[in-house]
Amino acid sequence: MAIRLVVTDMDNTLYSWIDYIVPAVEAMVDAVVKATGFPRLKVVQSLKAVYTKYESNEYPFALQESSLFQDFPEFGSFDKLVIEPARMAFSEARRKYLRPYKGVVETLAALKERHVFVVALTDAPRNPAEQRARRMGLDQHLTALYTMPGFQFPRTAEGEALVAPDILHKEEKGDYRAACPVFELPREWEKPNPSGLQKILGTYGLSPKEVLVVGDSLKKDVAIARELGCHDCWAEYGTYVSLEYRERLDIISSTAITRRHAASVFETGPQAKPSHTLSNYGRLLELVDALA
Ligand SMILES: [Mg+2]
Repeated sequence: MAIRLVVTDMDNTLYSWIDYIVPAVEAMVDAVVKATGFPRLKVVQSLKAVYTKYESNEYPFALQESSLFQDFPEFGSFDKLVIEPARMAFSEARRKYLRPYKGVVETLAALKERHVFVVALTDAPRNPAEQRARRMGLDQHLTALYTMPGFQFPRTAEGEALVAPDILHKEEKGDYRAACPVFELPREWEKPNPSGLQKILGTYGLSPKEVLVVGDSLKKDVAIARELGCHDCWAEYGTYVSLEYRERLDIISSTAITRRHAASVFETGPQAKPSHTLSNYGRLLELVDALA
């Protein structure tokens, strides 16, 4: 049976999440230290507390929700003096370091040309996942994007939004929206729960043998494919993370967060053996052809 749908993981499968998040959060921390004069440790700890609460270090409103904000009389000055330079630093690092792996864009385009649907299924929250898809132009090639629930704007007790007016404006204009449809799945459906994949199969009306699942995590991506009887393919290259980056990530991130985005980093010992292994994303085309 020919492959009609590829379900692809995003983080550390389409791009290196770790290679971007580490320098981006570090740059943000440096900018906050510079703006406030607070010790680095204090800044890191207060951010980490918010990240842990939201189980994501891509929570975009971490600064205004952190204890750092308590020392400021009102939001406007905090936004101008602290958040703005921090946002700039984060975006600049993201521009520099967030890149699709070699061959990813070409492969997605080639699959589209062959009329093979490509759907992304990620455990990242909607906002950052959608942003990344958009920034790297991946949304142009995806049929749909399935994510975890997105974040809401933080508000004061009086209901006033604690974000810069330009962000509110952009959100209203739809500037943060991806080109493809985006669906939020229930939190409990985080992989290795197969419900997300099950829903995708149902939506496209395909049998498991027409579907190839690709991802860097044996415990999540390969496991759900196995459970539902889809073809599975391990993006082994996504698991190569240097010790230095792991250590730097540990300082700014909690283990639970790293596990969500880069589960494969923790996978040691016996795992489900994948049916296919990729040394780079471009090899996916050969595999799709071979399985036909
Ligand atoms: Mg992954």
